Amino acid sequence: MKFSTRKKYILYLIGILIIIIMLKYDIGIPCIFHIITGYYCPGCGGTRAIRALAHFNIHQAFRYNALIVLLFPFAMIYLIYKYVFKGRKSISNNIWLILLIITILFSILRNIPMLYILAPTKLWKDNFSWRKK
Ligand SMILES: [Zn+2]
Repeated sequence: MKFSTRKKYILYLIGILIIIIMLKYDIGIPCIFHIITGYYCPGCGGTRAIRALAHFNIHQAFRYNALIVLLFPFAMIYLIYKYVFKGRKSISNNIWLILLIITILFSILRNIPMLYILAPTKLWKDNFSWRKK
């Protein structure tokens, strides 16, 4: 599907608006994989991690999803390079493969009871100190 530039910007604005509404009204995205299997997928806690990052609570963001916190700066740098500076280089297949392996390992490790520190903490509202005031 090919979008015109105008349609792309409208989609970006809709996306930004959805993120702002989610941050403002504490709306999360439930994980279907976790609901069905009881296991954590690599994205579990991701929305809460992004929300914690938006509030500059990096420690709590790590507790929700360490993978997203670690990859977020690289993703932002790449997106700025690609869309702001119109960079022509793409991510090589080897880097995609490394990211895939890291994601699979993270998925396995965060479901091992001994490594509970990688599993997302339960309710994000219970852990946000700035909300308790
Ligand atoms: Zn999940």
